Amino acid sequence: MSAQENRVMALSEWEDRWQEGKTGFHRSEVHNLLESNLDKVVCGRNEVRFFFPLCGKAVDMKWLADMGHTVVGVEISEKGIKQFFAEQILAFNEEPVPAIPGAKVFKSTDEKISIYQCDLYKFSSTVGGKFGGIWDRGALVAINPYDRQKYATLLMSLMNNDCRYLVDTLEYNPELYKGPPFFVSEEDVKNLFGGGCDIELLESVDAFEEKHKSWGLGSLTEKVYLLAPKAQ
Ligand code: SAH
Repeated sequence: MSAQENRVMALSEWEDRWQEGKTGFHRSEVHNLLESNLDKVVCGRNEVRFFFPLCGKAVDMKWLADMGHTVVGVEISEKGIKQFFAEQILAFNEEPVPAIPGAKVFKSTDEKISIYQCDLYKFSSTVGGKFGGIWDRGALVAINPYDRQKYATLLMSLMNNDCRYLVDTLEYNPELYKGPPFFVSEEDVKNLFGGGCDIELLESVDAFEEKHKSWGLGSLTEKVYLLAPKAQ
């Protein structure tokens, strides 16, 4: 981890980004690596319960719901959540979450998409149940590097035995850009999840874009891994 180990983003800084419209991480199209690997996550199952940690307003949630799956997301920014429902033209209800003081859950009226507005680390399987699929994009790479073990333990506790967890990571020279998104290596993924999951590298793509030049980078690789709970 080296250069980025001690970098910390406070929750208020994320909210500020939403308030200021600095949401360059958001993509208006379904993520290419989710699309190309969806079959390996769904594995022929119908109505999979998907978890989206740090979901933002990812359009992928609506895409999966339209296929008949259900989606549960967690996002700290109420502004981001409300933008999601407005942009996707989905009516929603808002309720308190008795188990998490101060938290709210926003549910589409057909209940296919629920987004918990709270700190991810307050969420648990007691609150939201377990999942058959997880799409982690802009999540493992967005949390503070020193929280990674806590994050991995939480995510693994949300996996059903048949869960398939697709995690998207970025590799670049961490001496040149402070993040987020943070650099996450193959070794990091193995150290974090290898105790509980089998790990397969599915794709490694050159994801360097114009905006990464302004981050001071000359290259950036996106890697997506499939995690499955080890047979017990
Ligand atoms: N996954 C989304 C968003 C990525 S940016 C996408 O790919 O577009 C990371 C998001 O996580 C931001 O929207 C930020 O507000 C939220 N966030 C950061 N830390 C969080 C935490 N501890 N709990 C809940 N949400 C958090």
